[in-house]
Amino acid sequence: MAAVLLEGKVVAEGLKAKVKAEVEALKAKYNKAPKLIALQIGENASSAVYVKAQKKVAELLGIEYELKTVPGSTSQAEAEVIIKNLNKNPGVTAVILQLPVPKDIDAKSLVNLIAPEKDAEGMHPQNLGRILLGQYKIGPCTAMAVMELLESTKISLYGKEAVVVGHSEIVGKPLALMLLNKFATTTVCHIGTGERGVLPEHVKRAEILVVAVGKAGIVKGDWIREGAIVIDVGINRVGDKISGDVEFEGASKKAAYITPVPGGVGPITTTILMRNTVELFKEQVK
Ligand code: NAP
Repeated sequence: MAAVLLEGKVVAEGLKAKVKAEVEALKAKYNKAPKLIALQIGENASSAVYVKAQKKVAELLGIEYELKTVPGSTSQAEAEVIIKNLNKNPGVTAVILQLPVPKDIDAKSLVNLIAPEKDAEGMHPQNLGRILLGQYKIGPCTAMAVMELLESTKISLYGKEAVVVGHSEIVGKPLALMLLNKFATTTVCHIGTGERGVLPEHVKRAEILVVAVGKAGIVKGDWIREGAIVIDVGINRVGDKISGDVEFEGASKKAAYITPVPGGVGPITTTILMRNTVELFKEQVK
């Protein structure tokens, strides 16, 4: 059986339509649009690509977007003042710190300084805590994008064996909590699982498999359970190609649904960033 491709672009289009309609309604009601500020410290080629994509999606959805670039020589203390001022500015709905930052800057403490009510990426400890409590409207974009892909299959997660490979703060950990909130029976695998040599046995049980490791082909095609939903978050440059963490060819013969890499999770994340901004706006105007 060949798997159905879970294409991020299709899911993102549906989400964009919903967010756009919501922004229009909010503008009509409050006579102002949500505004997202992207703070970029120094120049960076990969960050420039993201900024361009963010600006395009924001414009499409009717969200105001401003790139605030400060020199790479900006100190930690100066960056902190900039964030505190953005926190205080009533014209700013949400803030994202573009990564990477120069090596002398502590990105994590800056992200923690963004007010939770303006945290576009849902990475403030208070917002992460809300996921634990199952009381969240915003969240880390990649984890939220995975949930959208799963939802697009219309398959209930209730009681399903879900296995998340990777336990990073931006993907694996919040995602595991989101799956738990949907009553999936959730296992989280990490380096300890890999080093103990038991990754295959966990993956083989998975009806829902999400892999976010960053090692090309770490999950072999023949480990995939027949009929599984496979979400491959990994992005790895192999020669001149981008490939995922799952061996696609073998896996797609066994899975019911599988994401392509590229083209799976990636296209949805920017739209989630905008949806987070809109959710923050709604709280602020309440
Ligand atoms: P990360 O912070 O490096 O986390 C990788 C995780 O994999 C860690 O939890 C690590 O465990 C675990 N791991 C490493 N080796 C393992 C092994 N042999 N067996 C099991 N687990 C192992 O990476 P990330 O930021 O979560 O990103 C993961 C991948 O997703 C990367 O390829 C990244 O480029 C991609 N990504 C894609 C998108 C998108 O939009 N498509 C967004 C974000 C990330 P330890 O921490 O214990 O070592």
